[in-house]
Amino acid sequence: MRIMRKKILRIALALIMTLGIVAGTTTTMTKNVSAACRHPSAHIQPVQIESCDRLGIYFIVCNSCNIVLDVGYKEPLPHSWQRITTIQQATCTRDGWVYCKCTRCGTYRDLKVHATGHSMVTTFENGILDRYCIVCGYREPSILV
Ligand SMILES: [Zn+2]
Ligand SMILES: [Zn+2]
Ligand SMILES: [Zn+2]
Repeated sequence: MRIMRKKILRIALALIMTLGIVAGTTTTMTKNVSAACRHPSAHIQPVQIESCDRLGIYFIVCNSCNIVLDVGYKEPLPHSWQRITTIQQATCTRDGWVYCKCTRCGTYRDLKVHATGHSMVTTFENGILDRYCIVCGYREPSILV
């Protein structure tokens, strides 16, 4: 058990160094980690709160000796885009662009809006079949029935 915990701690430390996280509140980790910890209670200590495109990292820390017992992760959150302005209106056949802001992290980004596709209707008059788009007026060749 002791060996396993030491291994977990090493992984956690490696992770912190890799990601360049300043673990301000985890300085107690420098305590003698080789001591066996059999204390009954632990608490969760956030190292990095999950955000847009960013993993959440949490330590499970012993309440008595502050040894990191385990590392937990939370999935990154998706951006929450809100349209600010329309750069280019999407049409039936052409993609559009909107300028958006994420309400969660404040990032700005141009996002593509897919072309809507034609809204075709069919008419049949005097033996002629017509199909056309009620939005842009695109017509297919008339068919004489
Ligand atoms: Zn302990
Ligand atoms: Zn975001
Ligand atoms: Zn159309």
